[in-house]
Amino acid sequence: MLIIFKGETQGLKVAPRWPSSKVLIEKNVFLKLLEVQSKLPSSVKLLLVRGYENKSSRLGVFRHISRWLGIKLFCTCYPSRKSEVGDIFGSNGHDVDGSHVDVSIVLNGKRLRLLPLGVFTSLSLQQSRAEEHLAVIEYVKGTLEQCGFIIHHNQTESMQIHCDFNG
Ligand SMILES: [Zn+2]
Repeated sequence: MLIIFKGETQGLKVAPRWPSSKVLIEKNVFLKLLEVQSKLPSSVKLLLVRGYENKSSRLGVFRHISRWLGIKLFCTCYPSRKSEVGDIFGSNGHDVDGSHVDVSIVLNGKRLRLLPLGVFTSLSLQQSRAEEHLAVIEYVKGTLEQCGFIIHHNQTESMQIHCDFNG
């Protein structure tokens, strides 16, 4: 397992999701992300945001509490989307090992904010945000898939590009 801090490591940009200051990731997954990056045009950069998070660490406990609050808020905002709670608020493997990662896209030096309100961004706002950069987003996701990553099936998770490395 590699520990990567905010900044750039071997050409891969890293911006750990608050309140974390580092991303833990399996070495082979890191190398795969470098391969994905090498296949992208120079105007497009991957941004690694989240990897392995130990359940019993302070960060894990923080995530657990924010998840609990988040579920309450989400169900209040979107009562018809309760079936998505597991997909959106589940740990999606982040507490299992470092082969489950979230990545973002930086286009011409600017991070694409596809979820301005995080997972509380409505599906229609997500879609209109994505429309503007659809070609880039599809290209990045396609390249990730070519390199052995599986993109999460839930729309919101797919917007924060949660993917699992499947070798
Ligand atoms: Zn994730």
